[in-house]
Amino acid sequence: MILKDRDKMHIWHPLTQHKLHPENIAITNAKGSLLYDEHGKSYIDAISSWYTCMYGHCNPFITKRVAEQLGKLHHIVFSSLTHEPAIKLSEELIKVLPKNQSKLFFSDNGSTSVEIAIKMALQYHFNNNEKRTTLIAFEDGFHGDTFGAMSVSGISVYNGPFEDYFLEVKRIPTPTKDNIANTIILLKELVSQHKIAGFIYEPLVQGAAAMKMHDANGLNDILKFCNKQHIITIADEVMTGFGKTGRCFASDHIETKPDIICLSKALTGGIMPMAITSCKQEIYNAFYSDDIGKGLFHGHTYSANPLACSAALASLELLQSDTIQNNIKRIISSHQSFNERIHDHPKVESTRQTGIIFALDLKIKMERYGNLRDQLFNFFLKNGVFLRPLGNTIYIQAPYTISEKELQTIYDVIEKALDTF
Ligand SMILES: *Cc1c(COP(=O)(O)O)cnc(C)c1O
Repeated sequence: MILKDRDKMHIWHPLTQHKLHPENIAITNAKGSLLYDEHGKSYIDAISSWYTCMYGHCNPFITKRVAEQLGKLHHIVFSSLTHEPAIKLSEELIKVLPKNQSKLFFSDNGSTSVEIAIKMALQYHFNNNEKRTTLIAFEDGFHGDTFGAMSVSGISVYNGPFEDYFLEVKRIPTPTKDNIANTIILLKELVSQHKIAGFIYEPLVQGAAAMKMHDANGLNDILKFCNKQHIITIADEVMTGFGKTGRCFASDHIETKPDIICLSKALTGGIMPMAITSCKQEIYNAFYSDDIGKGLFHGHTYSANPLACSAALASLELLQSDTIQNNIKRIISSHQSFNERIHDHPKVESTRQTGIIFALDLKIKMERYGNLRDQLFNFFLKNGVFLRPLGNTIYIQAPYTISEKELQTIYDVIEKALDTF
């Protein structure tokens, strides 16, 4: 039996309605930007396997560093024990994170990094003898699939069975030049009616909302307001972190820095699952006490896995190299030229770009996981490109190491789709 059929026996895939989507393509190996299926057909990974493998699949530099670590130390308990890969990673990350960040808390995926950030914000106030119970989040945000993360996410069509168990969350629209004044009024109202503990946001680009982009100045106004009200600000940079926006973090484009930052996805270059929740010293200080109960009693078994730390260190070194920085500039300018080429196409409703993230909305209306979307998805596959349209949005987030030829193939296939559908 081929892999694709053996898969169906026992595997339950994430985010999948198996009755409607029984088939999964079995990938046997990958190199650089290319995925190879069990029949040898190749696909350009135009979304970097959910924005993780930004330095290409099986990157030899990262692979070598992880292999070296494999010979030294695989995994140990990260409470009462520590190790150099985590210590070195903390030193290197602090150099690149916004200057106000001071402490790092390790976990193993984006959702847990968000859970930890939420717990930090709630317990920060609790430890300071203030009961604050409500969180603020953007409409259409996505922060993960665990309960806390689901609560603050705004895309709710799939959350029906769980809504009764959610945290208390109030939502505000993402900022535009036109709505920001009203949003500040709304925030003032919320503060007068609720005890607001924290505000969580995806800075500049909302990934799961189909790469919806918003105004940096407006976001800065919201953050300034939160600071004045002592509302803990949490930047979820799980998707935007590590160069996607053209700078190391999306928060680097915004004057007011977050109190807490969530990191995962590209952190390890897609080699291993790992996440980090960083925070400023003042947050940490609120937990630092002779009272054991004021500590943050949260932990995951695989916290700060040494192999994952070594992958993250190698990734960070690559990100800062001239080669990758020049590639990022090249991709940004190629996207701009592609935009020139297609933004007036009759099937294109609108286009947008932040850094290496490019998205276009089709003039055709589609359901998020509906039939036309599937036809489009299959069209891309047939043409050797792995793209996952979200509703009527097609977006590109290719590895930094993608060649210009591969990038042009993605553009050509998208253009062909525009002429076909
Ligand atoms: C993917 C994502 C998450 C969740 O990360 P997982 O590792 O899938 O749990 C959270 N926030 C943002 C912005 C994401 O893109």
